[in-house]
Amino acid sequence: MSTYPALLVNCMDPRLQGTNAEAIAWAAGFQPGSWEQLSYAGPSLWLEDPHESSHADTFQWLLDEVSEKVHQVHTVVLAGHSGCGGFKLKHGLMGPAQEKATIIASLRAAAAELKRQKPGLKVILIFATIHEYQPAGALPAITCERID
Ligand SMILES: [Zn+2]
Repeated sequence: MSTYPALLVNCMDPRLQGTNAEAIAWAAGFQPGSWEQLSYAGPSLWLEDPHESSHADTFQWLLDEVSEKVHQVHTVVLAGHSGCGGFKLKHGLMGPAQEKATIIASLRAAAAELKRQKPGLKVILIFATIHEYQPAGALPAITCERID
């Protein structure tokens, strides 16, 4: 049975999969092969304001029974990103600055909730800005920043 140091809680947005998911994990200090991933529409909402209340139980079960007990994860990397459909669903369309402020506030609220439940868990927050130009058949470039 393998263990992994980190769980990446990422958006289900296709632009943030593959090498872009790797870039987010790298920005938090985790190399490919050392982390597992769960995806949700607006990842931090899963922990602090889920689209449906039952979703919170799903996250809790996965974190408790798989990430912690089976894989012995000790760090959660929680991602947010620009142009997020999960936040659009929740809050409507926002301008870029308002969206970023809303998502960063959500990341911090989600981190506080995780810390309350599991004081021993380390939480790293990353905000990824997706650059608009997307070459055909390739993922768009992203810039990752760590949020304190
Ligand atoms: Zn998203």
